[in-house]
Amino acid sequence: MPSVTLGTIHRNLSWFADSWLIRRVKRVEGASFFEGNTKPHNHAICERCEKVEDLVFSNLKDLVSSPISGSVVSVDLTVNCICPECAGKEALAKAT
Ligand SMILES: [Zn+2]
Ligand SMILES: [Zn+2]
Repeated sequence: MPSVTLGTIHRNLSWFADSWLIRRVKRVEGASFFEGNTKPHNHAICERCEKVEDLVFSNLKDLVSSPISGSVVSVDLTVNCICPECAGKEALAKAT
């Protein structure tokens, strides 16, 4: 039995991801959350503080349906961003 540990695999995958050979798809911890907005909408999540902002695109379904052969039921879009607060903090940290 070759002794390949999960740690080794993870290290190798990380190396591939860093070399842009594969893409690391991030899974937000505890990704499901409850919110009062039950209308279809999407989210922008800050990569630093994980603050969630609601996004409403009026024509998103039309936009994504053109390259899709089937019919679009719903769109769950998550935009990874850096919120103004975190961007401000980073700019401040760079300046000092
Ligand atoms: Zn933030
Ligand atoms: Zn929402």
